[in-house]
Parts: sequence; structure tokens; C-alpha cells
Amino acid sequence: MNLNELTAHELIDQISSSQISPQDVHKSVRDQIDAVDSKVKAYLRLNDNPQNYDAASPYPIPIAIKDNMCMQGIETTCASKILQGFKSPYDATVIRKLKDSGAILVGNTNMDEFAFGSSTENSAFGPTRNPWNLDCVPGGSSGGSAAAVAANEAIWSIGSDTGGSIRQPAAFCGVVGLKPTYGRVSRYGLIAFASSLDQIGPFTKDVRDSAMLLNIIAGYDPMDSTSADVPVPDYTKALTQDVSGLKIGIPKEYFIDGLDAEVKAAIDESIKVLKDCGAEFVEISLPHTEYAVATYYIVATAEASSNLARFDGVQYGLRSFPEKVRKSSLIDMYEESRDQGFGPESKRRIMLGTYSLSSGYYDAYYLRGLKVRTLIKNDFEKAFESVDAILTPTSPTTAFKVGERSDDPLSMYLSDIFTISANLAGIPAMSMPCGFSQDGLPIGLQLLTKAFDEEMLFRIAHTYEQNTEWHKRRTKFN
Ligand code: GLN
Repeated sequence: MNLNELTAHELIDQISSSQISPQDVHKSVRDQIDAVDSKVKAYLRLNDNPQNYDAASPYPIPIAIKDNMCMQGIETTCASKILQGFKSPYDATVIRKLKDSGAILVGNTNMDEFAFGSSTENSAFGPTRNPWNLDCVPGGSSGGSAAAVAANEAIWSIGSDTGGSIRQPAAFCGVVGLKPTYGRVSRYGLIAFASSLDQIGPFTKDVRDSAMLLNIIAGYDPMDSTSADVPVPDYTKALTQDVSGLKIGIPKEYFIDGLDAEVKAAIDESIKVLKDCGAEFVEISLPHTEYAVATYYIVATAEASSNLARFDGVQYGLRSFPEKVRKSSLIDMYEESRDQGFGPESKRRIMLGTYSLSSGYYDAYYLRGLKVRTLIKNDFEKAFESVDAILTPTSPTTAFKVGERSDDPLSMYLSDIFTISANLAGIPAMSMPCGFSQDGLPIGLQLLTKAFDEEMLFRIAHTYEQNTEWHKRRTKFN
């Protein structure tokens, strides 16, 4: 295998025994980008000056960053025209922690504009392609970060997950994606989509790397008022191979009509693997699951409409100030800038969110949405009284074709049906590879646990991985 195809832990072993240098790894990653990124389009821009190549630092590993995390002095756009030219004056906490660990920041990855989407087709700069099949989407909204790892154009990467944007692209691209507990990783410097749902997390080629990358980025941050002051364990200690005696719940509401037969078969097979390792499976009920998508699109759009109000042509990025506007008012400049700067999905969400927050509709939509959110959260709390974890498919289907759902927002929204509840409940959830379809597209399984119990996720996921081979497959390009 080439260096760029290895995991971070394999590379760190080789770097610490001086067999290879961080430069070698970075070169291998850059060569792969030169060879395949014109097809995959995982990156929006590459970082020309990313490195100190300090082999003595703990993690001198090339990493790709979703384009919604602020990096000092570097353009950050959220794949939106409205932020073109915006250079952050400071580093997001996650970026600072990565820099402190010795990370080689390769570049910024493509995404759905402001993380609105499930396919990375809503980027203002064109779609990213799925490295397993270039006719298919990589999932979204962190599609660039998932594709970069799957195409071996980064060793690992960072994404954000508001309703599934790490887990669903991880499933579509055959990599491990983790959404930590809300508050586990600082959101300071993450350009907000829906502040009560957003969480930053890792994309990796295996579970050990996921634990290592979470070790780097997790922890309390006084700069983020929602960051949790809860001690961070060493997650690699949870990578045992023992699930005997654990009880895992299978929610009956997740095995719906639209669930693809190949996905269902792969999930059944993974249950068998974990049973053979000693886990016990029980059917459980999460009775409010059917309201999750509707609730999410009320809460998330309401928060998004408020967060996006700051993009007005004055403070950040694009200002549209043509002759006709110059002769009129400030309001016209705002309107013109927002009209030129935001793409169709952003406008749709601003309108939906503004509507549900407006007087007369607030009680009927937003307030009711919050109440149902509590019911969904309570479903999980009740379930975790009797099970240690929950196992579900990550997405009802494998990756779909580019263009297939882009004219139908509702069918796009439904691709998150299994991932959204974890964000509403604030609990951690991971997607990991559990098979491939006949057409060679990856299938993902999702594990969920109670808040701040990422160790349980790692324990189960690592046991599964040690007993299967899916994580060892690598994409090939001609
Ligand atoms: N696909 C969902 C949406 O469009 C989730 C996106 C996300 O997690 N950022 O809102």
C-alpha cells in the first residue's frame, strides 16, 4: 500500500520509528490529490503553507478540514458565494488543537452550502463525487471531507454534523464517521448552521483512528458556552475486543418500507457478527421516530435563519453594490448581497425558518417542534435504561446518483431519517462500514449510545471491526 492509503496509527508507528517522515506522507497525499481530485473534487482549496513537519509532535498527519471551520488568515466560505473572500482573523478551537498536535492541514473540503444538504450538490462551487463511483454523490453535507479520506487524498478529516452530515457521507463513502455528544467538541470557530444541533467530529479509515482524532479535538472550551465541562478519557483505552454481556437495542421503527434490501441484509449480518462476539440483541421502541424529520426541519431551519442573518454584505465576504443599489438605500444593498450570495437551498431554509419563528406561527411550529424534540430525547433516555447501545442502518439506501434527488428537496430530506434523532437528542453516534452493495457501493451501520458514552461506541465498533474486513478496502482510480 502507498503511504496515503494507510491509517494515521500505522503512519505514526512508522514516523516514530523514523522509517518515514511527515513530509513523505504529505507528499504521498499531495500526489494523490494531483492524480484524482480533478475527478473527485473533494477540495475547495489547498493550503500552501500548512506544515512544520515536526516528527516529534504527537500527530504530524495530513488532515482535511470542512470549509466551515475558521482558520486564521485562510479563506473560509462554507461553499457559499456570500463568504467568498472572507479570511478568518482567528483559529477555531478545533483548528488550534490540531495545530498544537502537529497536524498537517492539507486544505479545505467541499460541502453543501452552509451544511444544508445530504449530497454536497448544494455547494456553490460544484458537486463532489463519490470515490467508489464517480456518477454517485458522496453524501453530505461533509461530502468533501468523507470523499477526501475515501479517495486517500487525506489520511483523516474533520466534518460537522447537524442532522447526519458526518455519518451519512461516512456511510456513502465507506469510512468511519463520528458525531460526538453535543458539547463534547468545542464549536468555537465553527460557522453555525443550527447552534443547538451542530457538532464537529472525525472521519477516519478505522475505529482506532477515530478514537485518536477525538482525543485531539475533544474537551471543555470556555470560548463555547455550550461546551461541556466533562473530563475527556483516553478513547483509545476503550478499544477492547469485548462485547460479551452488552445489550444492544434494535429499534423497530427503523426497519421501514423504504429500507433497501441490501442495506437490511448487511445490517442483519453485522448483528450476527456482534452476537457471535457475545453481545445480546433486543428489540426496542423509539416511538416518536416518525416525527424526527419534521421536528428537525422546524428547529434547524429556525436556527439557521437566525444564524444567517449576519451575512448582510457589510461584515463578511461578498458585497453586491451595483450602480442601481448605490443610488438607493442600505436595505437594497443588504437585499442585493443576500440575493447574489445565497444559493437556492439557503434561501429555502431562511424562508422556512423565518416563517416558523414569526409571530402567529411560533407557537404552532417552533414551540411545538421543541416539545416534540423533548419527546424524542426522552425516547432515547428510556431506551438506554435497558440497553447499552442502539444499532441501526446509517441511511436507508447506498449513495444515489448525482442529480437524482436534487430537484426534490423532500426526498433529499428523507435520506437523513436515521441520523437526525441523535442530533435532536444530543447523543453520540457513529457510522462505520458494514458491507458493499452488488454495485460496489459501501453500506454503513450506525451505533448510538447515551450522552458522553463515546467509549461504548468505540468498544462495540472496534470489536466489530476486528471481526470483519470492510474497513480494509481502498478505492482505486484508473
Ligand atoms: N442533511 C441534513 C440537512 O440538510 C443535515 C445536514 C447536516 O448535518 N449539516 O440539514
